[in-house]
Amino acid sequence: MILTEFDYTRPAGLDEALALLAGTCGARVLAGGQSLLPDLRAGADDARLLVDIRQLAELRGTTRTPDGRLLRIGALTTLADLAADPLVLAEAPELAAAARSNGDPQVRNLGTVGGNLAAAGRPTDLPVAALAADAAVELAGPGGRTTLPAEEFAAAGAPAGQILTALLVPAAGPAAAFEKSADRATRYPVCATAVRITPDGPRIAVTGATPRPLRLRGVEDRLSGGPYDTDAVLAAFRAEPRELFVPGRGTSAEYLGHLAGVLTARALQRAARALA
Ligand SMILES: Cc1cc2nc3c(=O)[nH]c(=O)nc-3n(C[C@H](O)[C@H](O)[C@H](O)COP(=O)(O)OP(=O)(O)OC[C@H]3O[C@@H](n4cnc5c(N)ncnc54)[C@H](O)[C@@H]3O)c2cc1C
Repeated sequence: MILTEFDYTRPAGLDEALALLAGTCGARVLAGGQSLLPDLRAGADDARLLVDIRQLAELRGTTRTPDGRLLRIGALTTLADLAADPLVLAEAPELAAAARSNGDPQVRNLGTVGGNLAAAGRPTDLPVAALAADAAVELAGPGGRTTLPAEEFAAAGAPAGQILTALLVPAAGPAAAFEKSADRATRYPVCATAVRITPDGPRIAVTGATPRPLRLRGVEDRLSGGPYDTDAVLAAFRAEPRELFVPGRGTSAEYLGHLAGVLTARALQRAARALA
């Protein structure tokens, strides 16, 4: 049962969608509905108007920018399409793996990149991969288009009245990986880590175990130059403050810190093997 009453509209273009968001109190973007509709059912969202953007075809699909450095992933690209896209598998494998790990086939067929990045409340899989990739989000608002580092977007949340139009991801080749320990019932991450090995050292991000998706720069510095053997990675995680890890149901900060270390070691070792 949906607990609140709301209106529904399908704007023909992005400008119309933005005008509706700006002009209506309680307006929400509706993409795949895999977070928003359960929230409405649970009474956890008091939306007054759903602005359905699924027909905006220009927000769908992945291309490489003309200079070859970035993948531009449209916000309405489904998680299933992202997981199977040969370009993403080749140049941003941590993103493809994060999408593949998401929920079940129905969630992946309907859920979108923009919705997974913008969904608040529970830890989702794509933000951590976006942080490790040093990606940026492209936003459209009443003042035009802007880009924001994914790290800032993850810290501040989706700005009101704006529509996430694309994720901009540096092309990395195979030197990246994603690992997750999933809640058995929901498949959401208890802890997920994403890594990229770059000429400047590893980039490491964690979610689920931490209050929000975070780059762990202290761990990155301790591991810069390698090696990525499990003992070294676990030692690098033990040096982090315990308060970084937020105990949940049946978990302690020590357990989550250890789990994050184990998953990161696996991810770094897989990325290093792919690079060799
Ligand atoms: C059974 C189940 C299992 C799941 N398991 C997982 C899991 O393992 N891992 C995981 O990460 N997630 C999981 N999810 C969540 C799911 O992946 C996300 O809900 C989905 O990706 C969100 O995308 P959507 O297109 O459905 O967004 P919607 O539900 O339509 O929207 C979600 C939120 O984002 C906003 N939004 C959507 N698109 C945009 C946009 N382009 N610009 C601005 N704001 C926008 C909406 O207003 C809303 O607030 C699960 C969900 C279900 C129902």
